Amino acid sequence: MEGFDTLVVEGLFYREEGGPLLSRSVDGKVSNVTEQLDRMKGRELQLAMHHLPDYPLAANRWGGGCCLWQATGNYCPAGHHENPSFLLSVSGRGVLRQTEDGWCLETFEGTHIGMPLNQMEGHMGRIAAVTIIDLEKMKDSMSSVDLEKVDTLGVQAKQLQDILSQLQELTKGIS
Ligand SMILES: [Zn+2]
Repeated sequence: MEGFDTLVVEGLFYREEGGPLLSRSVDGKVSNVTEQLDRMKGRELQLAMHHLPDYPLAANRWGGGCCLWQATGNYCPAGHHENPSFLLSVSGRGVLRQTEDGWCLETFEGTHIGMPLNQMEGHMGRIAAVTIIDLEKMKDSMSSVDLEKVDTLGVQAKQLQDILSQLQELTKGIS
């Protein structure tokens, strides 16, 4: 039973030539987006992935200021050159899968919610996810952990008793 897990990748999404998709947070921390997703692969998630525009919204800029492609000229993979006010927003609940078409969430009904990571590239954005856990199973796993703790405490108590009785033997000898 895997426990509760969360994923937050926030910042500038970018790719160095031929490299993996990375994200750099405002404090300069770089993370590998694919590695982060890989960690959650096959698990049921509540996930949101979206562009993160300036606040307040820069109405005159592509994607409200989240798009770095505007500076480079006339093309953006998210289509900001055609629709400057577009903001990518994908959210849903499903099992995280990696297919030939890229990453997606497979819903309970069997449909796929696509995650167009290429539209994140060159943008400020965020991917956030939490694992959906089975509370009953979690209770089971927690109680087994608790039982282990109790066992460990029992061993420690036994050791303490042994040490104490040894000490008593010693002090008997002294007095
Ligand atoms: Zn853009």
